[in-house]
Amino acid sequence: MLMEINILDNLFELFSSNKRLYWVYILSSILIAYMYLLLNKRDKNIILNKKLWLNKSAILDYKYFIISFFIKTIILLPIIISSKNITITIYEFLLNNFGFISISMFSYIQITILYTISIFIINDFTRYITHRLFHTIPFLWEFHKVHHSAKVLTPLTFYRVHPIENIIFAFRYSVSIGFVTGCFIYMFGSKISIIEIIGCSIFLFIFSIIGSNLRHSHIKISYPKVLEYIFISPFQHQLHHSTKYYNKNFGSYLAIWDTIFNTIKISKNIKISKESIKFGIYKKDFLNIYNILFKPFFKIKRKLI
Ligand SMILES: [Zn+2]
Ligand SMILES: [Zn+2]
Repeated sequence: MLMEINILDNLFELFSSNKRLYWVYILSSILIAYMYLLLNKRDKNIILNKKLWLNKSAILDYKYFIISFFIKTIILLPIIISSKNITITIYEFLLNNFGFISISMFSYIQITILYTISIFIINDFTRYITHRLFHTIPFLWEFHKVHHSAKVLTPLTFYRVHPIENIIFAFRYSVSIGFVTGCFIYMFGSKISIIEIIGCSIFLFIFSIIGSNLRHSHIKISYPKVLEYIFISPFQHQLHHSTKYYNKNFGSYLAIWDTIFNTIKISKNIKISKESIKFGIYKKDFLNIYNILFKPFFKIKRKLI
């Protein structure tokens, strides 16, 4: 069965197991945060800290979360290319150029495992590349600044993303999934599937249940040094939001791309000083939803003239 996945096709975040805000992942994040706070009493004021949860930046995140939901559903959803179209294009390209093949040396289980791992790795790698391009190409940075402008981090900061970035990331997603699926169907036939837990890719489920939501939070969970070269810890993504290390840790789930391309910053020995954990890069850039949506276009236009 060909699994059609579209980043925007599930509208109800709370009840969709492949969304960050699925109630199970929220619950697990709260439990992990609670355990962290038991062990790190100095951070206990995070729980009811008005300066955090009612900060102007956090309130803007809450409002933008609702607005961006409608933008995605009404404007973006119809224009997103389906990964199915990419799959068919890749499959036909391979068939026309290399002829029909059928590899029968692998069992169904082996193909399923290989397909699940390939999807995860290619998806994570293209996320790293695209995220890095958003930092290095000046006009893309104007859009990505929106995400980096958050002064405090809450799980909803994950959704503080300009619609242009949403479109590019959704396109990247469709191309990645479509490319891998097209290659697999060409080699092994159309009987391929992904390993799932409650309707969600096993890798996405594992990373979500162990606290993806805490990446955008003030819960500074680090992993042991060696692990942080392989997996991005919540604290490593928080460093990516800091004024000092925003050109480090572009990875999503895997840190190996940052390790290979020398953009890694492990969280050990980071002094929790104002400098390293000060979030938000510009003072007055995005104060309201109008700014978030239109300021990047004005800035690009001004640079072009
Ligand atoms: Zn970034
Ligand atoms: Zn982020």
